Amino acid sequence: MKIAVLPGDGIGGEIVAQAVKVLRALEHDGLRFAMEEAPVGGAGYEAAGDPLPEATLAIAKQADAILFGSVGDWKYDSLPRAKRPEQAILGLRKSLGLFANLRPARVHEELADASSLRREVVAGLDILIVRELTGDIYFGEPRGISTLASGEREGVNTMRYRESEIRRIARVAFEAARRRGKRLCSVDKANVLETTELWKQVVIEVARDFPDVALTHMYVDNCAMQLVRNPKQFDVIVTGNMFGDILSDEASMLSGSIGMLPSASLDAANKGLYEPIHGSAPDIAGKGVANPLATILSAAMMLRYSLERPQEAARIEAAVQEVLRKGYRTADIHTAGMREVGTDEMGDAVVAAL
Ligand code: NAD
Repeated sequence: MKIAVLPGDGIGGEIVAQAVKVLRALEHDGLRFAMEEAPVGGAGYEAAGDPLPEATLAIAKQADAILFGSVGDWKYDSLPRAKRPEQAILGLRKSLGLFANLRPARVHEELADASSLRREVVAGLDILIVRELTGDIYFGEPRGISTLASGEREGVNTMRYRESEIRRIARVAFEAARRRGKRLCSVDKANVLETTELWKQVVIEVARDFPDVALTHMYVDNCAMQLVRNPKQFDVIVTGNMFGDILSDEASMLSGSIGMLPSASLDAANKGLYEPIHGSAPDIAGKGVANPLATILSAAMMLRYSLERPQEAARIEAAVQEVLRKGYRTADIHTAGMREVGTDEMGDAVVAAL
């Protein structure tokens, strides 16, 4: 199995090294990972004058899956937009056709007190948000800012979805629900937006192929409210690019720490890019204090979705659960009676638990 390892900037190198260590610990005669590392983001710009160097893209294209750290640093803020580190992630999504973003939000029992919501609302939470990633108002044309004949300026963006785009993301979501609690909630604004009226119709059509999954529908404003009122009512949520952008960030905060949450971005053949949801945290880079668990859990998602190794994925998740149960915490999570460790020690603890 070929894995492209793209650590990126800031804490990227430190956290990706821990996930690599965990993957190596899983290897045995029947399971070997061929890992190839390449610079991306600011590191790509330094190495080749481009946040997504051609050689890096070639390695990513040839791989079965991509393990990505994070990109970005304030020192690149003055570069032209096309040269900024964040362009690398957009370029990878586009070049590899990564249209499905999977973001689980899970609250480990031990960390329930770290959430800003009450323990009883979030303890044991385990939901998955499936967000469409390459369509919707973020990409729709026409777009732009123009000046009207009256001299007043006007901004325009276009919300657009083709049937085929809705169908393929719906299938990903139904399949994910099938592997979990078999419940899918499709989120739209069909009462006012025709684009999402079509969304709802197509999701209902796809549901015929998944009779074992219970489908419900919810308006996005209600969903935003329900996520903080009673988030445990959900299993899998599927929604478009813009609604998913907002709802997945809202859901991530239920868990209390940005350092715990993995994500996957998949293409039509389940090849994927796996990364923590947080950024490059330049404020703590190089200090050895970053939480590597989101990246380690991203490696577990990689085993489940792209490499078809669900048992190894579950082993990593159980090992993470075990180190949390034992009280190991990086500085970003504060709970009573914790044992504070650095990035490297946390990686070692997960390997030991494996
Ligand atoms: P950030 O996620 O990097 O950091 C926000 C806060 O969370 C910081 O205080 C940071 O120290 C903390 N934090 C983040 N990850 C952590 C971890 N694993 N362990 C402990 N603490 C952690 O967001 P930001 O500060 O807004 O952005 C910094 C840079 O990251 C920017 O250049 C931004 O563009 C980039 N960014 C990249 C990605 C990506 O690579 N996909 C995503 C978001 C932001």
